[in-house]
Amino acid sequence: MIVEPKVRGFLCGTAHPLGCEKNVQNQIAYVKANGTCEGPKKVLVIGASTGYGLASRITVTYACGADTIGIMFEKESNGRRTATPGYYNTRAFEAQAEADGHIAKTINGDAFSAEIKAETISLIRETFGQADMVIYSLASPRRTAPDGVTYTSVLKTVGESFTEKSLNLRTNEIEEASILPAAEEEIAATVKVMGGEDWMLWIDALKEADVLAPNAVTLAYSYIGPELTYPVYNNGTIGMAKKHLTQTAEQIRSKYPDVTALISVNKALVTQASAAIPIVPLYISIMYKVMKEAGLHEGCIEQIHRLFMEKYQNGSFQTDASGLIRMDDWELREDIQKRIMESWKQVNNDNLHALTDIDGYWDDFYHMFGFRFDGIDYTADVEIL
Ligand code: NAD
Repeated sequence: MIVEPKVRGFLCGTAHPLGCEKNVQNQIAYVKANGTCEGPKKVLVIGASTGYGLASRITVTYACGADTIGIMFEKESNGRRTATPGYYNTRAFEAQAEADGHIAKTINGDAFSAEIKAETISLIRETFGQADMVIYSLASPRRTAPDGVTYTSVLKTVGESFTEKSLNLRTNEIEEASILPAAEEEIAATVKVMGGEDWMLWIDALKEADVLAPNAVTLAYSYIGPELTYPVYNNGTIGMAKKHLTQTAEQIRSKYPDVTALISVNKALVTQASAAIPIVPLYISIMYKVMKEAGLHEGCIEQIHRLFMEKYQNGSFQTDASGLIRMDDWELREDIQKRIMESWKQVNNDNLHALTDIDGYWDDFYHMFGFRFDGIDYTADVEIL
């Protein structure tokens, strides 16, 4: 089949198998070229197939020499439709990692379920006995909790509605977007999906089954961002969930004193999760331009590689005064934010290409689905199974 991108808004309905493989190979090559470090050796990555989770899996494998078990929720191809990108990414990663002498096994199923937790525990036992690190990198719009209720997260404000400039991803034009305040149940549902409840259930299950090594570390990823995006992110429904995630880190540490549970606050990047948030894509397009010009731009793999190379020492991570790992340190630098805000105030449809890196935004977007990579013949037939 000849696979072309089918983009609608922030979604792409197809994925190119060879492009996804190239994406993984590029990330592996980056890590191989940029140094190794002491680190975990037996790692469980929950949400391992795209974005920050995939970059984490690649980094611990190639920078720290770890074996990994990954959990993902991806669709295989049925012969007529392509698989989702995470499926192709993971297949490519497993093949390369195994060829390079690393164990890399993956479970494709709903990480929120008790069944997948039990299956993972069996796989940890038979594969490496105990995990010394658990990276929790799930991003999902819904979760069926152990009570059988399916909760759906919303991207809304808390309190008052908020109107700001936003990039319409269908037309590439700037327009105003208004985000409405969430109802109490919507806030609670978002916390159920993206908060820390499921992370705690994972750690409880792994501890109970004795498959966590003594002094294991568990990491979850968060975002704070600048004040500009506070109404939609940090002070919005997703921010409430992230605050719950941060509290969960404390709860895990107090419940299991030998487990170091930490939050890494990462930079905003184009991933399937972030493209869905209003206002954020325009912010990212400006931020990419400013950070690229300052020589400070990082993608997922550069962020996570730096996380292990610079912030990880003797089995734990360097944190700020409030106990958070700050990988958003460069994004939030005063000079960077000052320049972003200057562009934000001026940006309109006439100067969009001058003030933003909208092309870089879209390149990253297409790359997630395996498109726009050099060296791939997108006009050629490709096996999609
Ligand atoms: P992503 O959409 O690229 O990845 C999500 C992963 O979760 C995929 O591997 C997917 O298969 C898996 N997944 C989703 N639902 C699942 C389920 N039910 N069972 C098993 N696996 C499931 O997302 P991302 O942007 O890399 O986000 C990962 C984490 O990083 C999130 O906590 C997010 O908030 C955080 N983060 C993201 C950004 C950003 O800008 N993208 C910035 C900072 C922090």
